[in-house]
Amino acid sequence: MTLSRIFNFSAGPSMLPESVLERAAAEMLEYQGSGMSVMEMSHRSKVYDGIIKNTEKKLREIMSIPDNYKVLFLQGGATLQFSMIPMNLLVKNGKADYIVSGSFSGKAYKEAKKYGEIHLAATSKEDNFSHIPTQEELNLSKDADYLHICENNTIFGTTYNYLPETAGVPIVSDMSSCILSKPVDVSKYGLIYAGAQKNMGPAGLTVVIIHEDLVGEPQEKTPVLMRYDEQVKAESMYNTPPTYAIYILGLVLDWVDSMGGLSGMKEHNEKKAALLYDFLDGSRLFKTNVVKENRSMMNVTFFTGNEELDAKFVKETAAKGFSNLKGHRSVGGMRASIYNAMPMEGVEALVKFMKEFEAANS
Ligand SMILES: *Cc1c(COP(=O)(O)O)cnc(C)c1O
Repeated sequence: MTLSRIFNFSAGPSMLPESVLERAAAEMLEYQGSGMSVMEMSHRSKVYDGIIKNTEKKLREIMSIPDNYKVLFLQGGATLQFSMIPMNLLVKNGKADYIVSGSFSGKAYKEAKKYGEIHLAATSKEDNFSHIPTQEELNLSKDADYLHICENNTIFGTTYNYLPETAGVPIVSDMSSCILSKPVDVSKYGLIYAGAQKNMGPAGLTVVIIHEDLVGEPQEKTPVLMRYDEQVKAESMYNTPPTYAIYILGLVLDWVDSMGGLSGMKEHNEKKAALLYDFLDGSRLFKTNVVKENRSMMNVTFFTGNEELDAKFVKETAAKGFSNLKGHRSVGGMRASIYNAMPMEGVEALVKFMKEFEAANS
């Protein structure tokens, strides 16, 4: 069988490193002398216990997660965290601040309102989310239980270039589309969460990193599976965790390590993003709306200004063997998601094609 893997620019689920898929394939029928596939194993078995513990250990090492933070492997996607966070954390003053800088943070804000007094600290809706509100634009509450941000806006292609000063209010960050892309100082956050299907592994796994001081009694009637305290106590095994996805995350972390850890990853991602943005800045045909200081390394949004030409571009890229370059339905235009696993060659091939398309159409 000949393989024809293409450059997949999907925003998620997205590309995984080829070496990870090869190792998963090699271990598919029998995992390391256990006589079975990881998918078939009891989550309470000794072999699986080794897999989940080792995955957590590698994540702690790679992200330098301090000992006073808990790591949870949950289900429900980043979206379930939109509910779980307020249900568990709105317990001191019952108030939280939200910055709405795009679509997912808007959803998180709307959901949180069901559980307490939610204050809009800032939004960039008026410029169609083409920038991230600056510290000066923030209207923060002193008595908030937390401040929620979405650190990389997957749909609009913007990212924070600073972390808000909150005078001690814990920061809760949705890192779904930027986790593992560069080093972060975990100690500056109260809680970090991410759906796995962008930079960590397959869909079905959600990673939560939470400061132990935030793990406590949640609001009344919080479902048991949605209680951080119960999940911490059960070491993510209150019920069956997403076993196979956790195993794949372990393989992805080995790959990140082989790339030089998070500083190596950052270098790799900066090079890819610079190639694409430099081209966009010099292009006669393509442009991006995103302000320079908030350009995402992970999701690059661009357009020609002519919808028919955008559609033609998307169609031609598909024929060329690139997939998923159409922008999100709420934004239009194009989007290239160039997560960790996208190789440099993928971005080089895309830019080469964009140059050809520009020459033929402008
Ligand atoms: C993809 C994404 C989500 C939604 O994730 P699910 O796992 O599908 O719930 C939320 N926030 C951000 C920033 C995302 O990129």
